[in-house]
Amino acid sequence: MTFNTVFKYALEVIGKIENAGGEAYIVGGSVRDYLSGHSVGDIDIATSEPPARIQEIFEKVIPVGIEHGTVIVRHESNSYEVTTYRTEKGYEDFRRPDEVTFVRDIKLDLARRDFTMNAIAMNRQGQVVDPYEGQQAIKHQVICAVGDPFERFKEDPLRMMRAVRFVSQLGYDVVHETKEALSSQAELLQHISIERIAMETQKLFAGENYKKALDLLCETGLQKYLPVLNSMLSERSYPEQSLKSWHEIISFFIQRCPECSIDRFVKLWKLSNRTKKQAEQLCKALKRYEKAQKVTPWLVYQLPEELFHPFVRVCTALGMDKEEFSSSLWGVKDNLPIQTSKEMAFQARHLIALYPNRQKGPWISEIMEQIEQGIVQLQVENDYEKIKEWIKTWNPPENS
Ligand code: ATP
Ligand code: MG
Repeated sequence: MTFNTVFKYALEVIGKIENAGGEAYIVGGSVRDYLSGHSVGDIDIATSEPPARIQEIFEKVIPVGIEHGTVIVRHESNSYEVTTYRTEKGYEDFRRPDEVTFVRDIKLDLARRDFTMNAIAMNRQGQVVDPYEGQQAIKHQVICAVGDPFERFKEDPLRMMRAVRFVSQLGYDVVHETKEALSSQAELLQHISIERIAMETQKLFAGENYKKALDLLCETGLQKYLPVLNSMLSERSYPEQSLKSWHEIISFFIQRCPECSIDRFVKLWKLSNRTKKQAEQLCKALKRYEKAQKVTPWLVYQLPEELFHPFVRVCTALGMDKEEFSSSLWGVKDNLPIQTSKEMAFQARHLIALYPNRQKGPWISEIMEQIEQGIVQLQVENDYEKIKEWIKTWNPPENS
C-alpha cells in the first residue's frame, strides 16, 4: 500500500493543523511499521501546537492527557493520538517524567523517544525527519537506543522490556551497547509497575520471534524480574508456539510446572478476574485432554468456543500434534446433541419430582451434571422418558 493510502485520514488531520498555521508529523510505531513493511496499527501525530489549539481546530477531541500534551482527535471514525512536541526531564520515581516542557522543534521531541527506529517523523509529503538514522536501523534490522542507552534505561526502565518485545515482534537484533545496557540496568526493572511489565510481556509471547526474545531476556538477566516465569524461563522451558493472551501463557506454564498455581500467577501479575476465569477453563480442558488422551465431547461442551483457538495454541505450545485439534474441536461441537444445559429434556424440577421424599441438597446438581454428561457423551438420548428410565438404572428411587 502506498503512503497516501495507509495514512489517508491522518494526512487530512495534519493538513488541518497546517492550515491553522501549525506543524504536524506522523511519528512513532506507525512510521517504523510503514518503513519496515509491517502492517500499520495506531497512528500517532506530533504537533507544534498546544492541546488547547488542537481543541479549537477539531470538533471531536478527547482530552486524555492534556498535562502531557496528548489529546485524541476523532476524524472520519478514526482516532489519532495528537501530542504536542515535548521534552522530558527527571524520572525520579522511575514512572513518569517530573517535568514535561512543550517545545517548537520536532527534533527535540524525537530526542526523547526510546529507539532510533521509533524516532523518525514523516510529514504530509512523506519526507522524513530522521536525526538518529532510524532508517538505517530499520534497514539493518537493529534496535538501538536514542542517545546513551544506560541513561535512557535509567530514566525509564520499561524501555528495556520494550526493546525485548520489539525483538519478538520484528526479529531485529539489539546493537552491542544497547544490549550491554540491558544487562547492566536490568535490576531497575523492579521499580516498574507490574501492570506495565505485563503488557510488554504479553506482546513478547505473542510475537513471531518470541524464542529469540526469551533468549535475550535470559541472557541479560531481565527474566529475574518476571514473577513466576523467572525459574521456568531460566531452564529454557519455552513454548513451541507463540501465545496470544495471558490466559494462554498461564495455562502453558501451569501445565509445565504443576507446583505453580493460577491464583499466584494472577495475583503477582495483577491480572484481571476474566483472565483468571479463562485460564481456569483452559487448564480444566487440558487436564481432561491429558486424562482421556483425546478430544472428548464433554471437553468440547465445557470449553467456551472463544477458547478453542487458545486451546489449540496451548496444546501446540506444549508440543502436541496440532493437526489433531485444529478440526476436531469444531467438528465435535457441531455434532453435540446439546449446546447448553438449557436444551436438556430433563431439568432439575423433573429430578425433584422423581425423588419426592428426598430433601433438597447438593445431590440435585450432582445428578444433573451426570445427566448432562450422559447426554453429551451419548450414553443416553436427550429425551425425557429415556433419561428418566436411565437414571433409575443407576439411582433407583427409594420407595419404588
Ligand atoms: P506499538 O506497535 O506497540 O504501538 P509503538 O512504538 O507505537 O509500538 P507506543 O507505546 O504506541 O509504541 O508509543 C509510540 C511512540 O512513543 C514510540 O514509537 C516511541 O517513539 C515513543 N515511546 C513510547 N514509549 C516510550 C518510552 N517508554 N520511552 C520513550 N519513548 C517512548
Ligand atoms: Mg503505537
